[in-house]
Amino acid sequence: MGEVIVVGAGAAGILAALRAAELGASVTLLEKTNRIGTKILISGGGKCNICHDGTMEDVLRAFRPNEARFIRAACYRFPNREIVRLFTDRGLEVYTRPNGRIFPAHGTAKDVVGILRERLDQAKVNLRLDTPAERILVEDGHVVGVRAGGREWPSRHVVVSVGGSSYPTTGTTGDGFRWLRELGHTIVSVRAALAPIYLEGTDPELSGLALRDIMLKARAGGREIARWRDDLLYTHRGISGPTVLGISREVGEHPGATLEIDLFPDLSFESLRDHWVAWAREHPRQMVLTELERRLPDRFAPLALAAAEVPATTVAAQFTQKQRNRLVEVLKAFPLPPVRLVVLEKGEVVAGGVSLDEVDPQTMRSKLVSGLYLCGEVLDIAGPVGGYNLQAAFATGYVAGESAAG
Ligand SMILES: Cc1cc2nc3c(=O)[nH]c(=O)nc-3n(C[C@H](O)[C@H](O)[C@H](O)COP(=O)(O)OP(=O)(O)OC[C@H]3O[C@@H](n4cnc5c(N)ncnc54)[C@H](O)[C@@H]3O)c2cc1C
Repeated sequence: MGEVIVVGAGAAGILAALRAAELGASVTLLEKTNRIGTKILISGGGKCNICHDGTMEDVLRAFRPNEARFIRAACYRFPNREIVRLFTDRGLEVYTRPNGRIFPAHGTAKDVVGILRERLDQAKVNLRLDTPAERILVEDGHVVGVRAGGREWPSRHVVVSVGGSSYPTTGTTGDGFRWLRELGHTIVSVRAALAPIYLEGTDPELSGLALRDIMLKARAGGREIARWRDDLLYTHRGISGPTVLGISREVGEHPGATLEIDLFPDLSFESLRDHWVAWAREHPRQMVLTELERRLPDRFAPLALAAAEVPATTVAAQFTQKQRNRLVEVLKAFPLPPVRLVVLEKGEVVAGGVSLDEVDPQTMRSKLVSGLYLCGEVLDIAGPVGGYNLQAAFATGYVAGESAAG
């Protein structure tokens, strides 16, 4: 069994190192920063959504079809229940939220990383922190080592798991994209995914305002391109929260896309209109704004009224049919200001990366350079929020480690 070098100690690299060591390889894990699993530590708001519950087919359905096809074999090789076992075997209790997301029950992301660290130590992986890799060394189409931390680390089996390029302060600065392009790989253009959106001219006073359980929709070229139901949060420069992350990839891919909020996704236009008709009949002296404030956050209600061009002082008895229909239209499709930017650096993942056509999905071997294995976010894979991205990173890492050791 030979020497395996793994570059990058995130979710994918740690699993690659563990699996290769388990199979008897002597493994060196090179990490640029002074700690392992930095992105795991900040994942799920510090709680770490470890993976997603359900059958592997259900999990795979959350990905785009070409990505699902690529990770299918790896996900069956190292499915969600095995990921969970990695932690529960070491005493971590987990629980599954009603929406299928699996989290530590009492612990945090720190405990998840603590267990991975413990496992690396027990597997006798030679972990080298503060050792940034500069280059992958290749001779005659075969990997021969890595240049890192000012010296060469010879090996004919190298796993590259350096992640993407969002949250650059955590260590992921897109180094892998540069090296792999130089080695002849196609890098599918790197774009924001699961990212906040900056809007033109958002009112900073709205910052911190949360809209609960709404449907955010994106349209482009006269058709709907994405929708996501959950919460939306106004920020200083735009919007964030699960709904925004959920549609950000499609918005980034369609410049000029417009956004609207369905504030009452469970009610049809007609039933919402009937509500306002009945309310006006029963409370002729009440202000429209008061009723809106009962159903929407206080700070948001005047905005909806203004968007419908209904004067703030209008009472039910003055509320015309035209105004009522306009208000219902606004409540079902509240228009947001134009998109300025989908913020790549603040994305939980990036879309794009090494073209999946150039990597063997059964082994994670590069089809262009022998002895080179690629896994995790450096590949052109980006799943939705919900534990899907760690699933993809853990599973592709596991398979890369297995192949590198073999
Ligand atoms: C705020 C946030 C919250 C998230 N929440 C979740 C969640 O709850 N559930 C989920 O499934 N996913 C979540 N994700 C996504 C998930 O963290 C990533 O998909 C996953 O970490 C990717 O794993 P990776 O191993 O490919 O890359 P990374 O985890 O990014 O690891 C790459 C490693 O390589 C190192 N590295 C980079 N360049 C070099 C170099 N030149 N030399 C040596 N080392 C290098 C980096 O320092 C890093 O340690 C979240 C991401 C963020 C940013």
